[in-house]
Amino acid sequence: MKKRLLAAAICLCMVIGLFPTIAMAEETTSIVVGSQTISGSKSNPVYAVTNPDDGNVTVDSGLTEDDSWNIKWDGETLTLKEAYITASSQVDFTTTIFFYPVQSSIFCKNDFTIEVIGNNTITSDNKYYLAPISSERNITICGSGTLNCYNNTSGAFQRRAVYSDGDVTIKGANLTLEGADHSIEANNIFVSIPDLSDPCARPAVKVYSGSNQESASEIAGSPVTSDKINITDNLSKYLRTETLITMDHKLAKYESTPATCTKDGTKAYYYCPVCGKYFEDEAATKEISDIDIWKVIPATGHNIEDGICSNCNAILGDVNNSSILDINDATLVQLYLANTLTETNVFDELLADVTGDGDITILDATAIQAMLSNV
Ligand SMILES: [Zn+2]
Ligand SMILES: [Zn+2]
Repeated sequence: MKKRLLAAAICLCMVIGLFPTIAMAEETTSIVVGSQTISGSKSNPVYAVTNPDDGNVTVDSGLTEDDSWNIKWDGETLTLKEAYITASSQVDFTTTIFFYPVQSSIFCKNDFTIEVIGNNTITSDNKYYLAPISSERNITICGSGTLNCYNNTSGAFQRRAVYSDGDVTIKGANLTLEGADHSIEANNIFVSIPDLSDPCARPAVKVYSGSNQESASEIAGSPVTSDKINITDNLSKYLRTETLITMDHKLAKYESTPATCTKDGTKAYYYCPVCGKYFEDEAATKEISDIDIWKVIPATGHNIEDGICSNCNAILGDVNNSSILDINDATLVQLYLANTLTETNVFDELLADVTGDGDITILDATAIQAMLSNV
């Protein structure tokens, strides 16, 4: 009985001890990159740089998102940005059985995603089962960049660029995968279009395969433009994907309006209501980021000659645009100077500087009165 109580007490202690850990646990997952095991999570990602000469990986806990890095691991996605990784350990086969993952260029025990930005190369010259990219679960490859992955080690066997015990899904990206025995080995290999936020984007993924680069040809089902296709049976030693994105905007043209002496005009532009973007050209190659500023053609101002605007015939001093110069104009100048104009008052400031001294003053009201008494 005492033993049972003790066991119960120990259990209770363990549960209490574990509880806060479980409640506060965040998804920290490990991955092997360049023969190093790194652990990261969404809230605590890990960054590393790669050496462009030897493919070695250096994890740097001081790096942040804003720094220059080649590798980012957040527990779910491995982002490669201009990365070059190679694991070249020629391990002892007897230890390889148990420790092989640690010798990989990229290895993960869980589902994970590789996102590629810029040009990336992953390779390894390990003689055993190690594909440069491998997982015990599913692998998804996506991104706007390119990924070159080779496994042509002489004297090795089962040379694959990518290996998965689950499925491999290629979501767009531009890949070149080459293994001397297989490009990819997995339960299923899918190609799908990438996830794009722009509703006007129309992606197409071309898929080429063959025994090598020269003999590769576009496979059945390519280009992929909507649903994913299963390419498991169509795949050879060499695989290349090419993602092309065309834009299908529904453009409406807004014609230009000319500027007048007093009113701004607008430049012609195009608007797509589907994505909400503005463009300078009908081909939608030049996007306008701030339409309200971009479209403005400034008012020209009056071109006064002998008291009359040669463009619009406005009369100098006729600040209420009534087409005659009268005492109301002089009064409005005075109200303007006293800051007592109401919203219903028309006041064309461009006609108010009668003296031409570059400023509106009481002298302008006086000048209007003088002109009226001379009539
Ligand atoms: Zn659009
Ligand atoms: Zn004018």
